[in-house]
Amino acid sequence: MSDTDGKKPLGVGGGAGRSGHVKQSFSHGRTHNVVVETKRKRVVVPAKPGAGANARPGSPAALASDPSKRPAGISEAEMERRLKALAAAKAREASEAEARAAEEKAREEERERRRAEIEAKEREERERLEALRLKEEEDARRAREAEVRAQKREETRAKPAATEARAPSPADRAAAEAAASRAETKGVSTSAPRAKTDRERDQRQDDNNRNKNARDDNRRTTGKLSVTQALGDGEGGRQRSLAAMKRKQEKARQKAMGGMVKPEKQVRDVQLPESIVVSELANRMAERTPDVIKSLMRMGMMVTANQAIDADTAEIVIEEFGHKAVRVSDSDVEQVIDMVEDKAEDLQSRPPVITIMGHVDHGKTSTLDAIRNANVVSGEAGGITQHIGAYQVKAKNGAILTFLDTPGHAAFTSMRARGAQVTDIVVLVVAADDAVMPQTVEAINHAKAAKVPMIVAINKIDKPAANSQKVRTDLLQHEVVVEEMGGDVQTVEISAKTGQGLDQLLEAIALQAEILELKANPDRPALGAVIEAQLDVGRGPVATVLVQNGTLKRGDIFVVGEQWGKVRALINDKGDRINEAGPSVPVEVLGLNGTPEAGDVLNVVETEAQAREIAEFRIQQSKDKRAAAGAAITLDQLMAKAKADQSVAELPVLIKADVQGSAEAIVQALEKIGNDEVRVRVLHYGVGAITESDVGLAEASGAPVIGFNVRANGPARASANQKGVEIRYYSIIYDLVDDIKAAASGLLSAEVREHFIGYAEIREVFRVSGIGNVAGCLVTEGVARRSAGVRLLRDNVVIHEGTLKTLKRFKDEVKEVQSGQECGMAFENYDDIRKGDVIEIFEREEVQRKL
Ligand code: GDP
Ligand code: MG
Repeated sequence: MSDTDGKKPLGVGGGAGRSGHVKQSFSHGRTHNVVVETKRKRVVVPAKPGAGANARPGSPAALASDPSKRPAGISEAEMERRLKALAAAKAREASEAEARAAEEKAREEERERRRAEIEAKEREERERLEALRLKEEEDARRAREAEVRAQKREETRAKPAATEARAPSPADRAAAEAAASRAETKGVSTSAPRAKTDRERDQRQDDNNRNKNARDDNRRTTGKLSVTQALGDGEGGRQRSLAAMKRKQEKARQKAMGGMVKPEKQVRDVQLPESIVVSELANRMAERTPDVIKSLMRMGMMVTANQAIDADTAEIVIEEFGHKAVRVSDSDVEQVIDMVEDKAEDLQSRPPVITIMGHVDHGKTSTLDAIRNANVVSGEAGGITQHIGAYQVKAKNGAILTFLDTPGHAAFTSMRARGAQVTDIVVLVVAADDAVMPQTVEAINHAKAAKVPMIVAINKIDKPAANSQKVRTDLLQHEVVVEEMGGDVQTVEISAKTGQGLDQLLEAIALQAEILELKANPDRPALGAVIEAQLDVGRGPVATVLVQNGTLKRGDIFVVGEQWGKVRALINDKGDRINEAGPSVPVEVLGLNGTPEAGDVLNVVETEAQAREIAEFRIQQSKDKRAAAGAAITLDQLMAKAKADQSVAELPVLIKADVQGSAEAIVQALEKIGNDEVRVRVLHYGVGAITESDVGLAEASGAPVIGFNVRANGPARASANQKGVEIRYYSIIYDLVDDIKAAASGLLSAEVREHFIGYAEIREVFRVSGIGNVAGCLVTEGVARRSAGVRLLRDNVVIHEGTLKTLKRFKDEVKEVQSGQECGMAFENYDDIRKGDVIEIFEREEVQRKL
């Protein structure tokens, strides 16, 4: 091309490197002209890295490319002068380069747009024409240049006249073209390809500039602004050059310092979930945790290595360390959970999971007990099922069935709300002597909503008043069409008392299960659902989990809701420790880091880090959700909110219960109470003893604290007395609900159903033949009375309720023992008493019940 040809005359004279040399050795008064040529020449041989190296050590080029050599071989004065010139040129170049860059960019965009508009045909033709024209041009020029070359060889090579004599000289032409292309606003002219060439050259030039720094800049500037540069050598440049020199030195120093660290520094893509633990963040950046903590401290955040920080903060830290944050969404975090669809050949049939539902006292517990040949109904307070349990039974034909015993329909629904659809079949227990009742209807609606098939067990068929036909017709009103009436709902007449019809019931269940074709893959990481969970004294958090797919094994690492853990022990429904649990098997799981909630889904994952990350992510997510919903996060905020809301006509309550399932059932029942004027609002609910903080919250919002099978601990009791907070204890859900209902409508009388007359502490347990375990107690409060009801409390949780078999003072049976005295007590039908347990002595009062 033209530039390449333009180089040739000089090249012939002495080669690229030498021509530069020759020019440099000219007197300084003539430098500018010579440099113009050199620049043009060098631009067209950008690939030649040796060009700079060939420059004489003292030349500005060498100065720029190798500052360390600066003092070598030149006088101080000369160096200063050169640097001044260089700096002045640089300063000008900087501002010019900016303008140029903007201009270049605008031009580039303009050209791009235009280029897109032009049709291929046009372009082709134009290019062909141009090629022809260019060829002609080039030929002509070559001829001219050949002449010039011949002339030049004879004359002095550096004579400016020779350069100017060339008509037009490559430099001039290129400059003209560049100017033209810059000024270009009309449609694409025939000079477009040449302009393109220019641009490419400019780009190469830019690359060169970047590599060789100020040397080329200087020369280019020299070429364009020779007058200005000439001035730059004068007085005007003096001040500027000093500042520039300082900047340059500073830059060099920074470079030298930075240069020691930067080459080793690796920029990492750091996976960043919504929240991340500080140590894990450090780990992912491959930085030291203390450094990360320090960095956070500088941002005013005092955190520990195990604390989680939000993604925005983490991103700042990541950038500070020079890495790149890659945000990952929840699905990314949870992706480690094995969600692979099971292949059909891996699937094996699994036992059905059955929930028994029905109206209170229609015989749910009795039926379940009759089925598994156990009788726990008599030991239950009020005869109401209060704990969610799950049991497996074997039918006569060998089929294994898994039964869930729920405290109410609310629990069934709250589990569904959490995403755990565990029930395959609902057995609706309807007492033949009572027919369809409100909770029967509720159960029907729940089953329908969950799209779970139903089997009706018409119970108490042994009773004379039994009328199973009425049950069937009643059901019809609620769109449950039994087989006898042409529908597809099976009914079985049973008696939980006599055991009649139970086998048929199991058969009906097995048949329904067959229709459902329930299958699971035992050979995969387990997936399960929490049936109930509680904080066990001594064993820590315990969850009853129903395995839904795969097999849960000891040692498995899992995440369950917002908790995670490693299976330390598995205990089946018979209380035996087992090593693994397959599909449809309910097991107690030990080894959790916290108490999950009923309905939480359990997933086995590969590593603890994964489990922890998912759990932490979920905690953060639910926090965000709560915050978004305007709900309070901390107790303090909860209090503030309760205070602000006090004008609303609602009855705030605080619920503490012995197990999660009960607490949820109560909350759901209470939330249904109310009309347009008044409603019940559960401020807070939880599992375990009533604590001081519960009392504090209750006081703030004028709420009573409801303890269901739990008691207030010492400090909480004292605090409640002092603050006038009402604490009510219940052991029967329906009593509780009735009372709150009454309170909500302002009907509740001041009287309570029962009141405590004394407390006794067990100091020693004796084994007495014929009687069983006898507690050696100290009455700590009030009085112990033989006729009164008693409850056994262990860590403020009610574990038994019943009556006394014996109350002895020394060897004598007595009616009463006063506070401060020792006595011996034994329970009727109950032996599991331990040192440290507390016996609560209470009396029931006849209260007018409103309903
Ligand atoms: P749940 O509230 O539905 O769990 O009902 P329960 O199982 O606690 O039973 C309530 C009452 O009905 C208890 O007193 C049982 O003894 C009684 N009961 C349950 N099934 C039968 C039955 O088949 N026949 C008779 N005669 N009584 C029954
Ligand atoms: Mg029951």
